[in-house]
Amino acid sequence: MRRIASRIDRQAIYRAASKSSLAGILVQTIDGTVLWANDAYGRIMGHDPDSLVGKHPLAFALPPEDRPSDAEIAQFRFVKPTDDKPRVEVFRNRRGDGTLIWLEIQVAFDQIRGFGEVVILAARDISDQVAQREKLEATTADLRRLATTDSLTGLANRHAFMRTLRDALAAQSQSADLVALMNIDLDHFKSINDSHGHAAGDAMLAHLATILAEVLGPDDVAARIGGDEFVVLSRNAVSLSHLAERAHELLIRFAKPLTFEDVTLEASLSIGAATADDADMTADTLLKRADLALYQAKDRGRGQVVVYDQALHDQQREAAIFATEVRGALSDQQLAFMFQPSMRLRDGEIAGFETLVRWNHPRHGFISPAEFLPVVRNLGLMASLDFAAFEAAITLVQQMSAAGFTQQHVSFNASAELLAQDGFADTFLSRLNQEGIAPDRIVVEVLETVVIATQGAKDVFARVIGKLTENGVKVLLDDFGTGYAGLTHLAKLAVSGVKIDRSLTENILTDRPSAKIIAMMHDLCHELDMDVVTEGIESKDQAAALWDLGGRVLQGFWLAKAMPSDVTLNWLKTHKAERPFLSATAIADTSNRRYLGANLS
Ligand code: C2E
Ligand code: CA
Ligand code: CA
Repeated sequence: MRRIASRIDRQAIYRAASKSSLAGILVQTIDGTVLWANDAYGRIMGHDPDSLVGKHPLAFALPPEDRPSDAEIAQFRFVKPTDDKPRVEVFRNRRGDGTLIWLEIQVAFDQIRGFGEVVILAARDISDQVAQREKLEATTADLRRLATTDSLTGLANRHAFMRTLRDALAAQSQSADLVALMNIDLDHFKSINDSHGHAAGDAMLAHLATILAEVLGPDDVAARIGGDEFVVLSRNAVSLSHLAERAHELLIRFAKPLTFEDVTLEASLSIGAATADDADMTADTLLKRADLALYQAKDRGRGQVVVYDQALHDQQREAAIFATEVRGALSDQQLAFMFQPSMRLRDGEIAGFETLVRWNHPRHGFISPAEFLPVVRNLGLMASLDFAAFEAAITLVQQMSAAGFTQQHVSFNASAELLAQDGFADTFLSRLNQEGIAPDRIVVEVLETVVIATQGAKDVFARVIGKLTENGVKVLLDDFGTGYAGLTHLAKLAVSGVKIDRSLTENILTDRPSAKIIAMMHDLCHELDMDVVTEGIESKDQAAALWDLGGRVLQGFWLAKAMPSDVTLNWLKTHKAERPFLSATAIADTSNRRYLGANLS
């Protein structure tokens, strides 16, 4: 080997090795002046290597902002480390064409015979690796941020918030701080989205986030934990009333309209607030309390602040007890069905009865369905209650038939839950069949609000109603005139008639528009061959006015209130049919002039 090596030109070997090396090699004097650069160094740095000889890398290889002054360059000296280990460092360098690269540079010291100490740099372009690494770091940071923040508002997300809340509660038990929570809900957010588009909805959410950021203290954390649900955690709330004050401030700030793309958006907030006044309160309990308070705020008409205080706590307890009692009432048959008659104005004959549920409470006496039906609904027992009403209606029809009253119908109120029962129409029809009851003797009343349910459910209801009416069962749209799009439903649903709501009839004598609407509803329904029952007639005058407006059937306290089943049949037997208004044309005439003016057609 040695023999071969001695025979060839060492210079040529070095030249070839340095030429083909991928690493850039730069030989400098101890004061940094370039003695020699290989081709690779020239390539990496974008210079002709020969042109670098005699220059100082500090003057040409660094980006302008890192470049030392001429005086500093003149004073520069490499300092040889004492330990003799090669040093590897990473520098940002500037190529001849101005682009920036990252170099990993290894610095070594050596002696050249007849010259003295030199410095040899081996440089590697690691720009790609650095770029990749930066990208990776950015991605990691992004992921970390995404995992903890809500991308629309930049606030914490539910996940991050829950962790913060748990930490805060754990810290509270060690200190005198009071942790508090505000649960914030944007009222009617869906309608903003629906009427102005999602971009407007997003703007509204971002707007709320901005306001939250403005009012937050250094120890508060805001988060968006659902579509339009926000929470604010305070680590050192002073008191419940202070918390309420802050919540009110939020309400006021948010009440200012927001302009988005020339549209003025207005919305309100509902806020439920609670403090962790118990040292060992869990996150779940605190959230639940703030949630209950929020629920109350919405229930009281939205745009409000409700704090979870002792009163609300008691109220919740009572509600829970009430719910238990309602459940018991349903199974212990404390519920009674009563019957309120309706009458044909034409001849004074009784058209039928409506089945109305009553709760005979052992301590409180009779309780109105308005009070306990929402609880029944929450308990998921609505359909079974309505089935019981249906059975009560069947029984009354049978009793009437047995007593010779074969024309009168009995109606009952069918909730959405009942209509949504699988095969309800079939069950209904087969029950009538079993009992030998003609289909037109049981009338089904459905609420307008039931029918304007969500799209999917609407189709189900329409099918059920269609099936009933095809089979000769009458279906009446209840509380007609209180909902939104009454007339469109009349067109789309195969209902047999409507019941005009008491909110219209109660003003029949005093309010011209109400009277006019009642008249037009009658015209329209007669035109469509539909039945009309008018509810809530409380006096003879109202009955007379109804007759003048084209009314055919009335129901109301003037005729009778709802009666227990055992009284109902006797009442029917003793009711004397009169033709109250036809026989007294004079009354009709005066009422017509007195209440409605001459020009109402
Ligand atoms: P609704 O179906 O509109 O029933 C008419 C309500 O108005 C009844 O109240 C009735 O007592 C009352 N009413 C009748 N005539 C007059 C009047 O001249 N003046 C006044 N001020 N009120 C009158 P009730 O029995 O308290 O029922 C309230 C609501 O509860 C009902 O309204 C109905 O929607 C619902 N409901 C009652 N029973 C049942 C049931 O068995 N099932 C279902 N799903 N709902 C029921
Ligand atoms: Ca009804
Ligand atoms: Ca009604």
